[in-house]
Amino acid sequence: MGLEEHIPNGLLLTTMEKAANWARKSSLWPLGFGLACCAIEMLCTAASRFDISRFGMEIFRSSPRQADLMIVAGRVSNKMAPVVRLLYEQMPEPKWVIAMGACASTGGVFNNYAIIQGVDKIVPVDIYIPGCPPRPEQLLEGIMKLHRKIEKESLKKGQRIKRI
Ligand code: SF4
Repeated sequence: MGLEEHIPNGLLLTTMEKAANWARKSSLWPLGFGLACCAIEMLCTAASRFDISRFGMEIFRSSPRQADLMIVAGRVSNKMAPVVRLLYEQMPEPKWVIAMGACASTGGVFNNYAIIQGVDKIVPVDIYIPGCPPRPEQLLEGIMKLHRKIEKESLKKGQRIKRI
């Protein structure tokens, strides 16, 4: 059934919140950075076989000031933690974070003093993706889950309290 049949006289009614959330989820721009092996799978997601451009996300931004999605792909060392936090703070609101893989989510096999045991210790995480490494299809599934999460968010998302 065509959209026109749902819209008598060409009139479409919605709420400000739904329209804003639709725009937000449809224009996520990822920050272009990777920390370890999971980043290779993230890069593959942008290739034609997996085609992240179906979501309008194929241009990974080089500046955090132009990005609203941080995909933490790889283990986070104590040395890199302040850098990751700084990049997150430089991203404008509203912004979202995906922890890609076991290392970013929990430290993975690196249960030692050098590695942060989960990136949620330094930035608020919206979606966790398991696997070592997760395949590109899993990252795409995580992105679609994030879309569904954004659809239900309040417009006050930009004012949420930051957890550290
Ligand atoms: S989860 Fe596995 S593939 Fe990903 S960064 Fe850790 S060791 Fe590498």
